[in-house]
Amino acid sequence: MNTETLFPITDHHMHLDHRCLGVKAAKAFQRAGGSHIFLVSKPSWTIGVTVQHPDDYHKVFDETVHMAGEVKKVGVTAFPVLGVHPAAITKMYGRVGLDRTVELMKSGLELAARYVEEGQAVGMKSGRPHYEVEPALWEASNEILMYAMELARDAGCPLQLHTESATLENIREIADMASKSGLTPGKVIKHFSPPMVDEFARCGLWPGVLAGKGMIKESLLQGDRFMMETDYIDDPERPGAVLGPKTIPRKTLALAGEWGDDVFWKIHKDNPEQIYSVEIERTTI
Ligand SMILES: [Zn+2]
Repeated sequence: MNTETLFPITDHHMHLDHRCLGVKAAKAFQRAGGSHIFLVSKPSWTIGVTVQHPDDYHKVFDETVHMAGEVKKVGVTAFPVLGVHPAAITKMYGRVGLDRTVELMKSGLELAARYVEEGQAVGMKSGRPHYEVEPALWEASNEILMYAMELARDAGCPLQLHTESATLENIREIADMASKSGLTPGKVIKHFSPPMVDEFARCGLWPGVLAGKGMIKESLLQGDRFMMETDYIDDPERPGAVLGPKTIPRKTLALAGEWGDDVFWKIHKDNPEQIYSVEIERTTI
């Protein structure tokens, strides 16, 4: 492939696990034309970490940071994004009680903010459950989300969110929460977004559009104010889920013939550079 004039190709949300394909998945991404990954920390329970103490989040985040280093060795740039999965609330409160759960989840987010401040990560991740939970858990989840926004504001970094499916109402609500916390909505990205590019633009949040069937085309019809992601999980128990690691480069290259290069320079380089304050250049190794 002639990569000299080719725009970078970025997967905005991917996980890699050395227990599964790990670096091999990054190589597959690269062979298909990919160049940059936003590498998101895995939920603690999927990597065998039972969080009992705030320090336990070190194990979770160090694994992501280490994997980013391994991936760089094969010529793919991986930017770590660290946080606490919102489903942790359901996993933990039966074991340690709700108050302690909130405390531990907040401490995990504090640690993520510290990694960002130390330059080991480029952003944070938080959210709230994507499934129905009882009112006390919902309220606690919103408190944790608000706290994550305040931490991201102080660290000056973006915040990826894993939340319930996007609707016009809830994305407005989240944009309002961000504004209240002092975090500019332009630093908040809804991961696993449907192709609601216009709606996101109106409320100031960013969508990371899941590159499922027809989703990117539908997004392109509304413009180029979005990013593309697979949420590739790299889990031995769910191989290939959610979308495979070659999806973003393959779809991008297939669509570039029809839509031209300019929109993809925007989607894969300009947008994430603006949000994350990183530099995205294709380098040949
Ligand atoms: Zn994910």
